[in-house]
Amino acid sequence: MTDYPHMLAPLDLGFTTLKNRVLMGSMHTNLEETGDWNRVAEFYATRARGGVGLIVTGGMAPNREGGVFPGASGLFTDQDIANHRMVTDRVHDAGGKIAMQILHAGRYAYGKECVAPSPIKSPISPFRPTELDAAGIEKQISDIVTAAERAQEAGYDGVEVMGSEGYFLNQFLVTHTNKRTDRWGGSYENRMRLPIEVVRRVRAAVGPQFILIYRLSMIDLVPNGSTHDEVVQLAQAIEQAGATILNTGIGWHEARIPTIATSVPRAAFAWVTKKLMGKVGIPVITSNRINTPDVAEQVLANGCADMVSMARPFLSDPDFVAKAATGKAAQIAPCIACNQACLDHTFQMKISSCLVNPKACHETELVIALADTPKTVAIVGAGPAGLSAAITAAQRGHQVTVFDKEDAIGGQLNMAKQIPGKEEFRGFVEWYQTMLAETGVSVVLGTYVSAEDLVDFDEVIIATGVLPRDPQIPGQEGPNVVGYVDVLRGKAEVGRRVAVIGAGGIGFDVSEYLVHDRESPTESLPDWMREWGVTDPAEARSGLDPEGAQPEPPVRQVALLQRKSEKPGRRLGKTTGWIHRMSLKMKDVQMKSGVNYERIDAQGLHISHGETRERPELMECDTVVLCAGQVPERSLADALEAKGIACHVIGGADVAAELDAKRAIDQGTRLAAML
Ligand code: FAD
Ligand code: NAP
Ligand code: SF4
Repeated sequence: MTDYPHMLAPLDLGFTTLKNRVLMGSMHTNLEETGDWNRVAEFYATRARGGVGLIVTGGMAPNREGGVFPGASGLFTDQDIANHRMVTDRVHDAGGKIAMQILHAGRYAYGKECVAPSPIKSPISPFRPTELDAAGIEKQISDIVTAAERAQEAGYDGVEVMGSEGYFLNQFLVTHTNKRTDRWGGSYENRMRLPIEVVRRVRAAVGPQFILIYRLSMIDLVPNGSTHDEVVQLAQAIEQAGATILNTGIGWHEARIPTIATSVPRAAFAWVTKKLMGKVGIPVITSNRINTPDVAEQVLANGCADMVSMARPFLSDPDFVAKAATGKAAQIAPCIACNQACLDHTFQMKISSCLVNPKACHETELVIALADTPKTVAIVGAGPAGLSAAITAAQRGHQVTVFDKEDAIGGQLNMAKQIPGKEEFRGFVEWYQTMLAETGVSVVLGTYVSAEDLVDFDEVIIATGVLPRDPQIPGQEGPNVVGYVDVLRGKAEVGRRVAVIGAGGIGFDVSEYLVHDRESPTESLPDWMREWGVTDPAEARSGLDPEGAQPEPPVRQVALLQRKSEKPGRRLGKTTGWIHRMSLKMKDVQMKSGVNYERIDAQGLHISHGETRERPELMECDTVVLCAGQVPERSLADALEAKGIACHVIGGADVAAELDAKRAIDQGTRLAAML
């Protein structure tokens, strides 16, 4: 008997059966743009081998004007069809099923050629779209239908028509973006004409035995979005028009409410999808922040949907379903919803990967094979750099020992997991614990390692991390000054009025920690919804609470400072920085840039402004917290070098500047893959 009877139950679609209720949701990885179709095929085939019920590809443009960016991939030529045929063949050989997403970006298309129902620029694009005339609309329909026909020719099992997240079809649905007065605008019947027409014409073109998923925006989270009644009306019409499955979309990309970030509670929007259950006769899929088999099972057991969609969890672990099905759920590498290596890369036009699993999208290049000669390997430091190296080396057959001076593995991840909204780091450290045991790594904790301890190993890896930088501010030795390590380890008292020195990732996180009183809205869905102003879309159009965001008052008065004159938080994650900034703003955190730290005394922090140190100011506070960056902890590496003992240095011990867990894990994994 499986622990996941709902998740692993087959889904009969009439003309075909999916082997379980798990869909790998669409992700744009930039892999297609490499032109290396063997690599694309291997990416999807690896996920198919891992047992997922149905894969949906990244969005394919139906035409030039609808591409997310100029030159976006699509099935335009015979060669494109042949390339995609490699993907579908490889997925089918691996026992999987795959549908191609057709994504027309409308006004979100990042280019001058973009088109939309009305010429209204989106707040997240510099381009004003051209308003389509009747012939232009007809062309878009026809191009989408052609894309579906080509997908069928390329061997796909179906298509997903992207109708949510504020893309083209979604833009026709709401008055936020559709000001037309012809048969494609005005009344709701007119505004929903285009999505229905698209589904009807695609179905007519591909015949009855082809999966047709429609991705429906269940809650728009933007002003003048759809009402819940309109969503239901559209869902029913889409079913009538010939869709096989309805998938869930949550929030437009321009919405100022986080929908997939790590601070969003798990399965936070499954209740929205549930409102559609019983109102249509075709299967309904729910999505967003579902990242473990337990959450997926619970969502399905609670009747929220017929199937779950997970996207990023298939980057962190392609074997998600196979592991769940064979009693190895604890070994599933968790998606911590950080976006650091996936979405942030996509938006920087880099190939996506995964912070937790650097092999993602690098399947053909980063191969973990058995070593020719097993060696003894000592790794000092059980932070993410050391741990990823240890597990990879052990998987290759080496005999690995990891040392740490602390009594627990995890390094700085143990501080990250204290931050409200970063609870996913807890499961991440637990996963490392499981994998160390699974791969037979010896772990020696509470041991400060010296160079003498390492002489007998074949290979030595130094992953000793970082030390906090000393900012050398006059008065910093006073009793009212503490470092972030002591604060996050609960070793320092912090008063009610606080100045945080340093507005990097850690300064932001520490401020978040200080404005909360241990409680985290991420662990309480009602609290999180109130905090961000989300409500039942049946009660308020678009799911936006008319009262707006109602955050709990901060438990401390916090000021966050930096010397650079740029906007604080500008260097945070591309897709998540705005959430951190907004979250602190909601807690009245005062942010100051372009400051000089003159001195600290019993009254507080004395600062001045600008290069000429003008406008001296006293920031009265009870406590000053230092978050002034970090320097490499290289003392052991230097001692080894002095003794002439060769070692590899990785993670923060190697380079502390702009270090994050993504780089530490990537470096640890790649080194161990070559030992
Ligand atoms: P560390 O994690 O520092 O590990 C080094 C280990 O070496 C430690 O466990 C230490 O005890 C041990 N050690 C040192 N010297 C010795 C010795 N002589 N003998 C034995 N053991 C020794 N990064 C992200 O990518 N995303 C985030 O969201 C994020 N959030 C963060 C939030 C906070 C609050 C903090 C503090 C950090 C965050 N980071 C985040 C940064 C990330 O945790 C670090 O970049 C990463 O942990 C560095 O990995 P590392 O293995 O090089 O070093
Ligand atoms: P950081 O991002 O380099 O920020 C250091 C801060 O200290 C900056 O604001 C810097 O700004 C200031 N600073 C530098 N030298 C100083 C000095 N001598 N005196 C006073 N202030 C000084 O480092 P961090 O915040 O310690 O974070 C460490 C790493 O962890 C980062 O690379 C980060 O990416 C990662 N992290 C990531 C996340 C995430 O969510 N992705 C979260 C936490 C941490 P000024 O020089 O302008 O004063
Ligand atoms: Fe998940 Fe972060 Fe990996 Fe993206 S990079 S798949 S969000 S763990």
